[in-house]
Amino acid sequence: MGSRQVSDRDWQGKRITVAGLGVSGISAARALTGLGASLTVVDGGDSEEHRARAAELAELGITVRLGDAQTLPEGTDLVVTSPGWKPSSPLFAAAAQAGVDVVGDVEIAWRLRGPDAAPWLAITGTNGKTTTTRMLASILSAAGLRTAAIGNIGTPIIDVVTGDEPYDVLAVELSSYQLHWAPSLRAHSGAVLNLAPDHLDWHGSMKEYAADKGRIYEGNSVACVYNVADPATEDLVREADVEEGCRAIGFTLSTPGPSQLGVVDGILVDRAFVENRHKQAQELAEVTDIDPPAPHNIANALAAAALARAFGVAPAAVREGLRNFRPDAHRIERVEEVAGVTYIDDSKATNTHAAEASLAAYDPIVWIAGGLAKGATFDEIVEKSAPRLRGVVLIGADRALVREALVRHAPEVPVVELDRTDTGAMSAAVREAAQLARPGDTVLLAPACASMDMFANYNKRGEAFADAVRALADERA
Ligand code: ADP
Repeated sequence: MGSRQVSDRDWQGKRITVAGLGVSGISAARALTGLGASLTVVDGGDSEEHRARAAELAELGITVRLGDAQTLPEGTDLVVTSPGWKPSSPLFAAAAQAGVDVVGDVEIAWRLRGPDAAPWLAITGTNGKTTTTRMLASILSAAGLRTAAIGNIGTPIIDVVTGDEPYDVLAVELSSYQLHWAPSLRAHSGAVLNLAPDHLDWHGSMKEYAADKGRIYEGNSVACVYNVADPATEDLVREADVEEGCRAIGFTLSTPGPSQLGVVDGILVDRAFVENRHKQAQELAEVTDIDPPAPHNIANALAAAALARAFGVAPAAVREGLRNFRPDAHRIERVEEVAGVTYIDDSKATNTHAAEASLAAYDPIVWIAGGLAKGATFDEIVEKSAPRLRGVVLIGADRALVREALVRHAPEVPVVELDRTDTGAMSAAVREAAQLARPGDTVLLAPACASMDMFANYNKRGEAFADAVRALADERA
């Protein structure tokens, strides 16, 4: 188990139940078995695939119980949960009743770190987590540090922490679920990018959701990074119990005050990690170093820069790291220009907060929206975006909700509604959008909804959009 220095005695003979036979559950089960614990993995499913995975684990001496995710195995000392499981799951109720602790994969990873393990720079927020974490890893690499972007992304966090590869520092993306189940996590520095209602069915209320996000600041030793434009994030810093000397560092798209990073005349500047922050500012990079230079993405870059600076990274590495960074697919991805119209795929905008950010980045826009609303309302996003809308094409199961908001707040904007959910629907949507658009416009797929009513996931939805745009380009060529 490489550089890990946890005493096996901590785990020897412990009877641990892992909830969920997914990537993180399997990783936890393997690691803890390797330390001498006695493992049972439970999962409600019982498919061919489940059985195949179960057979692999059985070879390691791990018990797998399929088809029953509710009852707590006799004699369990600790339950390790997987991200998707709700706190209200019967298994956890049974654990509470039996006085057994429930923790997540991040908590296990944290406990398995050795005394000289790499510090964590941790990131959470409703939107922008993956992007910001990868930007941060890019900056840390540019500084010559051995690092990886992990957490909700990449290699399972337990595998990274227990593996042989040595790291200087880790860029860790944490979802609110993971934070909920990681009570002893103490990051070097943490950031909450923004807070908007999401996953409330999981957390129960906005208050509980915010409290889980706020856990990222607990025990920070150098910096708690918050969003000046989102006072709820600063409130969480105030409520956190941090190490002495730890500072609150804000990021803003405006001119930064002392202890903030911000933007002045297209330049990202640091007024936090400089010798005299009341008089001095340090140039870090230019807005044009960021891809794409949309406002919310500049905010992501500032948050990543703040964490890197908190770790002592030099300004030149911030610039180089941001320049090297390329966004993941389906996140404000430019597909093609056809007949003077630019087509952008932001299929990853699965909630209104995300879609609002990309709608703010273009003008005029033909907006393709709709899908599964997950209980969201669309009045605010439509009201804010109305002046920039050339037209709207609506798709998906809950399109009526978006249409009603358009009738209320943007009655003059032309709306085409597609009453079909077959595989050709996206291609029809792109054609309708092309009809509405004029040269210089942007056609933006930013659905503000989940995709599962029409597609397997947001990737497939984005691919269908890009395919349709390319087909259109071929026809016009
Ligand atoms: P997450 O990992 O939090 O889901 P991503 O980086 O994958 O976030 O981005 C998801 C979507 O959220 C993007 O497609 C983009 O539309 C939007 N987004 C990214 N950063 C922000 C931000 N800082 N504020 C609002 N929306 C954002």
